[in-house]
Amino acid sequence: MYSMDFRRTKLGRFMNNRVPSSKRYQPTEYEHAANCATHGFWIIPSILGSSVLYFLSDDQWETISAWMYGTGLSGLFIMSTMFHTVSWKKSHLRKVEQRFHMCDRMVIYFFIAASYAPWLNLRELGPWAVHMRWLVWIMACIGSAYVFFFHEKNKILDLLCYTAMGAVPAVVLLSMPNREGILELSVGGVFYCLGIVFFKSDGLIPFAHAIWHVFVAVGAGIHYYAIWRYLYATGTGQIKISRYFENSFLELAYVGRELECLWRSPLTALMP
Ligand SMILES: [Zn+2]
Repeated sequence: MYSMDFRRTKLGRFMNNRVPSSKRYQPTEYEHAANCATHGFWIIPSILGSSVLYFLSDDQWETISAWMYGTGLSGLFIMSTMFHTVSWKKSHLRKVEQRFHMCDRMVIYFFIAASYAPWLNLRELGPWAVHMRWLVWIMACIGSAYVFFFHEKNKILDLLCYTAMGAVPAVVLLSMPNREGILELSVGGVFYCLGIVFFKSDGLIPFAHAIWHVFVAVGAGIHYYAIWRYLYATGTGQIKISRYFENSFLELAYVGRELECLWRSPLTALMP
């Protein structure tokens, strides 16, 4: 299956040996740094992006959805960066590191629920699809409880749970009468799925986990774009923002004119 053996190439020194599935892979220093950087980089953009959605909100539901989605999105990158930092610098604190790993895994379930929330809350859905609004959060809670009790007991089952959490609400979304955004949602989903190949390739491909992080960031970016474009940028919130900038610009122009007059009047008085 893996015909390319990186261990024999120059890139081999960037990774450690593969471990049996019952153990956790030990990244190299380079890999640790890359794991922190690839998600740490997205913390500020995700907070800014969430704020944009908040300011674009026209009504209470859009505001609530912006909060839900924004918390899930920023929470994912914050938690992941925290876990990878602890795992890199504080790995001797075994218990602490394990707790952070658990939280990192739990946040993924809430992140998936949060990614669906704007669509489920703001889009016109079929009569049975409406229940998915709260069902995704129940699923996220069950997923977290599963992580809490059976953390790393069965890695294949873990992966199946994530896939189910990601795929079940998608089936419901496919029933939306309004098809706008379906393409972006699918493309984002494909990135997450392709990323799983790297998620499972620690010790086979150098920086495999960091590459997985990049796939997650790209998938999340595409989903953010779709939410911004189809659910938020279309409303009157957009007009509100552009009017705000327009007014600020007009005000600045006005202040400029006033200042100019102030400077000019003494000058003209001095003129012969
Ligand atoms: Zn990670």
